[in-house]
Amino acid sequence: MRLIPLNSTVKTPAERFTGDVYLTMIKTPEPPSRLVASLVRFTPGARTNWHAHAVGQTLYCTEGGGYVVNRTGQVIVLRAGDSVWTPPGEEHWHGGTADNFMCHLALLEAGEHGDGTTWLEPVTDDDYRAAARRAGQR
Ligand code: MN
Repeated sequence: MRLIPLNSTVKTPAERFTGDVYLTMIKTPEPPSRLVASLVRFTPGARTNWHAHAVGQTLYCTEGGGYVVNRTGQVIVLRAGDSVWTPPGEEHWHGGTADNFMCHLALLEAGEHGDGTTWLEPVTDDDYRAAARRAGQR
């Protein structure tokens, strides 16, 4: 076994995220393992672009609260201790609520090229607010 020292925390790129989001890589794949694990911290109102994962993704919320939203309009409210599974190819986004930080572990498996994530368009402010309203109506 070996210790994996703490990696640097990096700001995620504006082409793929709205608002301030910080990522700390935990594990990159070492064959035969394909695990990619990272800790992602969203500031209030920050979110990913729409995207999909080739073989799915598990999110585990470690702190705060946020949303996971798909194209059908389904909104899952994510709070510390909750997990969400997004199946292969399902287009979705994740982010914090408007008034809380949200931190989650992102767990997925790499493909032949990179981590198998297909990045799409940003989530508009209108779409973000609509999702937040739907979450509040549950
Ligand atoms: Mn995702």
